[in-house]
Order: sequence, then C-alpha cells, then structure tokens
Amino acid sequence: MTTALSQQTVSRRGFLKAATGFLTHATVGGFNPLRERAAILPQDVAIPPSLMLHSQDAQLAFLPPLLEQLNQAGFTAVTYRSWQQMVRENRVPAKPIILSIDDISMAKGACAAFSTFAQMKEWIRAAGMTAVFGVITEPVINGSPQREQDEARWDIVRGWLDEGFELATHTSYHSNFNAMDSGPRSDFTAVDYEAEIVRSAQLIEAKLAERGLNYPVRSLIMPYGSGYSYKLTPSQIHAGISAACGKTNIEFVIGIAQGRKPLSIYSLLNGHEVVYVGRLPPAYLVAADGKSSPYADLTFAWLLSWHEENDAVAAKQPMLLPQ
Ligand SMILES: [Zn+2]
Repeated sequence: MTTALSQQTVSRRGFLKAATGFLTHATVGGFNPLRERAAILPQDVAIPPSLMLHSQDAQLAFLPPLLEQLNQAGFTAVTYRSWQQMVRENRVPAKPIILSIDDISMAKGACAAFSTFAQMKEWIRAAGMTAVFGVITEPVINGSPQREQDEARWDIVRGWLDEGFELATHTSYHSNFNAMDSGPRSDFTAVDYEAEIVRSAQLIEAKLAERGLNYPVRSLIMPYGSGYSYKLTPSQIHAGISAACGKTNIEFVIGIAQGRKPLSIYSLLNGHEVVYVGRLPPAYLVAADGKSSPYADLTFAWLLSWHEENDAVAAKQPMLLPQ
C-alpha cells in the first residue's frame, strides 16, 4: 500500500512537470498538447474536503475542538487560491482541507456579527490553520443595499490576508440565483449578474488596492448554494454566472451540492476556466428544546470520509511511468 502510494506520488509529479512544461508553450495550430495529453492520461485532482461555516458556528464547544481534531488527523488547511497554486506547483499536502466562512460584510450598516467573524479567524489562526471569508459587499437590510463601507473593517481584513486568509466574493446583495428546478431565475438578466458578481469582486479588489494590495478575487461563494443547476442534467454553473465571472478574475464558483468529484488538472491549470466546487455544512444536533448546535465529532467524521473518498479515487487512477 505504502509503495503504491509513493509510486502514485512520483507519477503525479512526473505528469505535472510535463503538464506545466507544455503549458508554457504556445498552442500551435489549434493543437493543445496539454489537452491531448490529459485526454490520453486522465489525471484528476481531488477536491479538498470543504466545510461551510457561518457566524452561528462560532461556538467554543464546536470550532476549536473541530480544528483540534483536524490537526490531530493530519489535515492541512488551504484556501481556494492557495490550493490552486499548490496544484500548479505540485505541492498539494496529503490531507488538504478548506474552511470557508460565509456572510461577513465590511458595509457600515451591516454585519453586527463582525467581531464574531474576527473571533473565528483568531481560533483558526491559533490552530495554525487558515480559511476563506465570503464577503457580501452590499447587504440588503430592510430593502436597502448598504453601500457605504467601514474603512476600519477593511483595514482589519486586509491584515488577515497577510496571515494567509482568503477573501472571496459572496455577491453584492446575497440573492438566491435559483429557480425552483435549480436552473437560472427567469427574471435575472445580464445586468443582475453584473451587479451581483462583477461589481462585488471589483469592490473587494478596489478596497484592497486602496491598501496597497494587488488582490485579484479568485473565488465566488454562491448565496444559498444557488447558481448551480444540481437538479438538472447535466449539472452546471448557470450560464449568466459563468459569463459574469469571465469579466472578473474569478476562477472558482463555490456552492454546496455536488462538486466533490475530482477536477481535471487541465481545468485547474487553465486560468480562463471557471470550476465548480461543493461544500459540506456542519452536522447539527437538535436538543429537546428545539435548539440546534453544530457538533464537532460528526462534522469531523463527514470531512474525514470526504477525504477517504478522495483517496479511493486516487488509488484508481492509472499508473504513469515515473520520470
Ligand atoms: Zn450567505
């Protein structure tokens, strides 16, 4: 088993070296050597187990113990952007995990829970881990988008980026993008996609540029896990979202349903392609009084089984000749 795994590592490295080598060469006459090679030697990259958190999960009896369990099991926290970079450089840790925390906002009139997000960040940092924050740039309160930004909050989260945390856009208004069948809403136009996605990513980039940071926003966390037609065949990101992402630096669209099957190396190395990845919510226990609370042990077990499914897929991959 150990031998097989280490051979697998060697063969992946060999393939990636070849793949990135090909990438640096221009496509000649429409023939893309990487795509051809990937077609001959299908090599996939497992999506790290990914956990979706909200401010209500900032519970002392849940988050710190969960982080401790993940650490003890040998997981390494990565972010979408750092994971992509690791894939490119062939240095993905053996047990990567992505923690994401939704619904933070730096808008002045919103996000009463801002200090709760800061607490979650502290716990994660104290555990030697990292996470992705999904930013709602203009949250709607009582029907009004909160546009004015709190510059002090932006100063704070800019510091989090220096510590390795990632900012994703979680859209401008946090709309539900889905019709009943999980396909696109019929009332959404290109203007809506632009307002929700392009403007939100650009606002984050502008606020960070004001603070001396060139920070292309790479990840879009979809509100309510919408924007991905998981009930339809084939499942796919809504076309309007892909088109809007094409006007930004976004390369990852993050939802909830599906999105756990391995991605092709090609799609991850190709910066022009938007890829979809899913997440797990925490496990919740409902007490006799009806109050539910996140439960670390079961959440950990779910994340571990996602990781083990990855390993099972990796074991099935064709063996390549070591270089
Ligand atoms: Zn949300």
